[in-house]
Amino acid sequence: MISERSKLILRKLCEVFVLPKQTLPKKNPFKILIATIISQNTSSRNARNAFEKLSNRFKITPKTLANASESKIEECLKVAGLYRKKAKIIKAVSRIVLEEHSGNLQQILSLPLEEARKTLQELPGVGSKTADVVLLFASGRSTIPVDTHVNRVSKRLGLVQHEANYEGVRTSLQKLFEDSLAVHLLLISLGRKYCKARNPLCRQCPVNMLCPSNKS
Ligand code: SF4
Repeated sequence: MISERSKLILRKLCEVFVLPKQTLPKKNPFKILIATIISQNTSSRNARNAFEKLSNRFKITPKTLANASESKIEECLKVAGLYRKKAKIIKAVSRIVLEEHSGNLQQILSLPLEEARKTLQELPGVGSKTADVVLLFASGRSTIPVDTHVNRVSKRLGLVQHEANYEGVRTSLQKLFEDSLAVHLLLISLGRKYCKARNPLCRQCPVNMLCPSNKS
């Protein structure tokens, strides 16, 4: 039974990986939105550096960023790649939040989940994953962002269909697990440490006995 197996997988991952303290829902959805836009198509380290540079130069508020010079935003984002595009998006999203959402995301975040996801995705640069990250990390909503690790690992573990798209992976995982935050973080940890894209370390993997793709 997949639900029994998924419980055992989760239990084992909870024993092996310590969930970082910063996983508790954070309070500033706008900062999370900007950090997530910066993190698109780059490594976590580069994204962190770029966000830190941007935060050192500007207050991360819709008003400040909407009025900031695009070239100065670009300078801060260079380390994260696609910096011209991201700077444009950040200015545009800041202006829309400022002018159309009273300068904050709270109203959107308090909508019913699917409505909130849809409304967030109407903002420039916000796709499904970014919307889910904001909803999960800024307001603790029950949705599982599917990044490259979550997608790969959940398929290898046989938790979701191999051909599933973003929505298929997200909804299948949400049917299996209650704690969206823990599942998101634990699958990422497993993907980074053991279930690597090219050479998965099946022999050392803590859930190899529960995995149909185990090659050890
Ligand atoms: S056993 Fe191998 S394929 Fe399965 S989750 Fe572990 S590392 Fe990935």
